[in-house]
This record gives sequence, C-alpha cells and structure tokens, in this order.
Amino acid sequence: MSKNLKVCYERILPRDLQLSLPRGNSEAARMTRAAIVISKRWANGSTLRVRFMGGDAAQHDIVKQFAPQWSKHANLKLNFNNAPDAEIRIAFQAGDGAWSYIGKDCLDIPRDQPTMNLGWQDEGVILHEFGHAIGLIHEHQNPQGGIKWNKENVQRDLSGPPNFWDPATIEHNMFAKYAQDQINGTALDKKSIMLYAIPKTWTTDGFQSEPNEVLSATDQTFIGSTGVYPGLGQPSTGPVELAVAEMTATSAQIGKNGEEDLYKFTAAQAGRYTVETEGSTDVVMSLYGPDSQTKLITQDDDSGNNQNARIIADLTPGAYYVQVRHFNAVDGIGSYSIMVSKSGAGNSQAVGQSRGAARPSKGSRK
Ligand SMILES: [Zn+2]
Repeated sequence: MSKNLKVCYERILPRDLQLSLPRGNSEAARMTRAAIVISKRWANGSTLRVRFMGGDAAQHDIVKQFAPQWSKHANLKLNFNNAPDAEIRIAFQAGDGAWSYIGKDCLDIPRDQPTMNLGWQDEGVILHEFGHAIGLIHEHQNPQGGIKWNKENVQRDLSGPPNFWDPATIEHNMFAKYAQDQINGTALDKKSIMLYAIPKTWTTDGFQSEPNEVLSATDQTFIGSTGVYPGLGQPSTGPVELAVAEMTATSAQIGKNGEEDLYKFTAAQAGRYTVETEGSTDVVMSLYGPDSQTKLITQDDDSGNNQNARIIADLTPGAYYVQVRHFNAVDGIGSYSIMVSKSGAGNSQAVGQSRGAARPSKGSRK
C-alpha cells in the first residue's frame, strides 16, 4: 500500500494524553472516558463563530460552501465572522495535514492559535474536520466497529510519508476505541464522513472502505438526535431566567435521556456568586459568560450537597448561562432544583471549590 493516504488525526489536549485509554470494559474505564467526550459537546443550539487564520478567498469560500451542511441536521449554527475570539479557528498550512481539536476542547487553545488545519480542501475533508469540531470522533474508533486491524501494515504505512506518525499517535488515532457510552452505539457506519478510507491491507478479514465525501444518512440523523444536537427547526424556548436570590430555587427535571437544561441569570454587580443544585439527581453543571453561551468559566459535578453541583465564582457584571445535564448523559433522568445567590462583601472564603475547573496545562502539542 503505497498510495498517498491522506488521513486526519484528532488533536487531543495534554490533559487527555495523561489519562490512560480504557482497556477492557470495566465500569471505571467506561465512565472515565465517557465523561471526557460528553464534556466536549457544545451546548445544544449554540452558534459557533469561525475565523480564518491565513488562506485565500478561494479557500475560505470552499469552507463556507460545505461546512454549513452540518447545520442542516444539527441544532448548531456557524457564523463565519472572523471574530478574534471565534470558537473555531482555521489554518491552511499545506505541510501540516488535516486535523482538528474535538468539540469544546477548542476553547482551551490560545486565541492566537488555530483549532483546525486544512492542509488540503475538498468537501470530504471539510465535513470531516468540522465533524471533529462539533465533537465527533473517528468512526473506526466506534466500539461497535469491530475492525480487525493488520497492525503491522497500519503502523508501517502511517509511520511513513505523508503522515509520519509516531507510535503513540497511531495507537490513539487507529487502535484505541472509545467507550460504548460515548457515542450513539449504532453499528459501524461504512458511509460515515468520520470513517477513514481503509485499504484492504490494513485489515485481516478483507474489510475495506472507500473515502466518503458526503454526510451519510446515519451522520445526518445521528447529529440531530437526542443527546447530540436535537431540536433543529423547533421553536427555541430560550434559557429559563433565574433570579439572583437566596432561598429562591427553581424546580426542574432532566425529563429525557441526554436532556440539557439552560438557564440565564444577570450579575448586576461584580461579586461572588454561588450557583447550586439540590435534590437527589446527580447533575453536572457548567457556567458560561459573561454575555456568552460558549465561554466556559467552569464545570462542576459533586461540590454541592450529596451529589449536587455547586459553583462559586467571582463574576463581573453581565449575563451568565448555566447548563445542567445528568451525570449519566446516556440514560439518566430525574428532578432537581437550581438556585443562584450573591455573597455579601468581604467574604474571605476561597474560590475554586468546584472540581473540574482545571484548565489544561500548556504542554507541548504534537
Ligand atoms: Zn479525523
């Protein structure tokens, strides 16, 4: 197999490299990995802004032509406004292959650096890389995939030109699979835009796949399904307003699998605010703002009472958004209540109680 195999790789953050990939099916391994990928999905209904870092008008046009196909099926919008702090930032370095960070990992990349590279541009690679940017993984890493790799041949081909991957990159991008509950769990979709072209020499059982250039039927239904980006075309009810007031809790529930509830509150003055949930449902809460539904401030799972979430943060005046989902994003439901309060002046309590607030280290990237 000496054909020029142009394959994309997922860029992963240093913090994720430090987590061992799950071996076997232990619950601990499954949950660890599941939490990571679930946390990479953008808030449903988000508008993601796109900025080009280099490239010419023709290259920009082809991206604008094809990338929005995802928005026909996912409840996400793309805005090519070149905002300095755009969530998706695209470079066009010909010698750097094609890659993208996965979903919300893009938020952890310094603003002067790209989150995606399109070393070549065609419909297939643009749809594929935007698939990563909205949180999708490689289809061959689908745990249902069952591809029987000829590892020796894969390693030989990918360690040479044009990819020159090291063994760790090959392991992560080819052989490591995600946990069952990170994805929708359908059988491997041979037509998925997220599947590599796999030559016959890379498998031991004759399996092969052709390069896919368009979104498959499964790609289209999956990306708009419950727990991914559902509700396209339905009238948006908008976030539920929360009053900033002690003892004023708003009752709610995670009524169906994968549901995410969105709240908004206004910090009229700068100060220390506490957002917390109560009840017997194990929820995970994310705080965004000011005046942004994508600028993540922090996320918390269990800092509150029992398994409730609590975030204490020093906020500047502005609008803040709180997203609440069940810890078990696949099939967890239940009721809870949510409350926002503001501390009095001079509170000396340390901030940073919320776990999951750690930012990735600025370690070297591959
Ligand atoms: Zn890829």
